[in-house]
Amino acid sequence: MKKIVVIGGGVTGVLSAWELARAGHAVTLVEARALGSGASSRSAAGIRAQFGVAATVRGLVYCERFFEGWTARFPGSQSPIRQNGYLFLKNYTADLDAVRELVRIQREAGLREVEFLDKAALDERMPFLDSTGVAAATWCPKDGFLFPAIIYQDGAEGARALGAAIVQNDPVVGAERSGPGATAVVLGSGRRIEADLFVNAAGFMAGGVSKLFGGRDLPIRVERRYLYFLAGLSRDSDWGLGVGEFPSLPMIITPSGAYGRPENKQLMMGWLQFSRPVAATLDNQDEIEPGFGLGMSEYGAAMRKEITQFLPAAQDMGRLAAVTTGFYDTTPDHNPLFGYDGGVANLIHAAGFSGHGLMHSPFSALIVAELAARGRDVASFELPDGLGPVDLAVYSLDRTFDRHEGLVI
Ligand SMILES: Cc1cc2nc3c(=O)[nH]c(=O)nc-3n(C[C@H](O)[C@H](O)[C@H](O)COP(=O)(O)OP(=O)(O)OC[C@H]3O[C@@H](n4cnc5c(N)ncnc54)[C@H](O)[C@@H]3O)c2cc1C
Repeated sequence: MKKIVVIGGGVTGVLSAWELARAGHAVTLVEARALGSGASSRSAAGIRAQFGVAATVRGLVYCERFFEGWTARFPGSQSPIRQNGYLFLKNYTADLDAVRELVRIQREAGLREVEFLDKAALDERMPFLDSTGVAAATWCPKDGFLFPAIIYQDGAEGARALGAAIVQNDPVVGAERSGPGATAVVLGSGRRIEADLFVNAAGFMAGGVSKLFGGRDLPIRVERRYLYFLAGLSRDSDWGLGVGEFPSLPMIITPSGAYGRPENKQLMMGWLQFSRPVAATLDNQDEIEPGFGLGMSEYGAAMRKEITQFLPAAQDMGRLAAVTTGFYDTTPDHNPLFGYDGGVANLIHAAGFSGHGLMHSPFSALIVAELAARGRDVASFELPDGLGPVDLAVYSLDRTFDRHEGLVI
């Protein structure tokens, strides 16, 4: 049994605290503000196991099963997952042999439900889509989206029930060192918490937390991302989508990476955009830059146009009702970072989720617990439920960043 301090009360920190408490450790989670104050409450909250790196496919199959079984693990909670499926549309510039090969790799890694759909199959299955310019698609009905607040609130309750202490509104502002490791963190209130092991789950602030320990420079670039919301359907669309069918719409990803899915009565939309680099803090997470508002000549209108090309019913979904924003913690190869700091012997980093950290969180928690149990970095470990081994080298802090995750949105 170790005394462990987890820094950050987003989904990564909360589920890590739960998993570590389950393993019998004495855990204290420290959150600068309230639980979910970072990216976890600003997320598009999609979950998919359709990835390009086999370890991530396996890990995400584990996550989908974990969320399907959530209420058995967290009694009194609600299911945090809705499995409407993920549909990746591919245009004629895509190498369809490579797409078929990717589906084969995903199936081999345990994602048996993923399918390659040719254009005829797509038109038959999804008649509400306009497939002009679409050559094929990949489809997985087990994918979908999550309800983040259920995960970090009820996950924290679960950790508490196992004996973990949760400290909120008190940031870690310093760390005390002795020899090769750290001995305690110091909080804004002046409180000190001693521990044997520290977990940096501070999301886009993880680089700063590493510095507080005298730890390594983390290869994380912080990027702002926007989500836009259309009012939704108030009547059946003339474009083949009924009001009653709207809540079951899958996550649809256009060939250029724009995506849309239902969020209550609204359609949530996102797209890769390059916005002005910022020095990210907890306070400027919600700032909307000029050009990214709700006006006709702003980014949201372009996003709507891109989605409407493939989902024509979006024309009937009322006005652009809202825009929200938050930060991605992106690594050079879009795979997260898990491992011991090296310079600080008892500091584990779990960050750099590159826009996938919500869906990844049960898998992240398992990796953190495995690293805590071993006391050192490990090359691979065995997932539960017969899901097989995962190669942790792809997430190592010392990797060369040449195995890019190709399915990034
Ligand atoms: C617009 C947008 C869309 C996204 N879409 C998706 C998606 O579809 N699917 C998906 O899986 N992911 C998505 N993500 C990414 C996902 O939200 C994040 O990867 C995930 O929430 C990261 O969780 P985390 O717990 O690692 O970090 P965070 O949720 O950022 O939590 C870190 C916590 O650390 C705290 N903290 C920071 N510094 C300190 C300190 N010094 N002391 C104590 N606490 C501290 C912060 O207050 C914060 O609460 C999206 C993100 C954005 C912004």
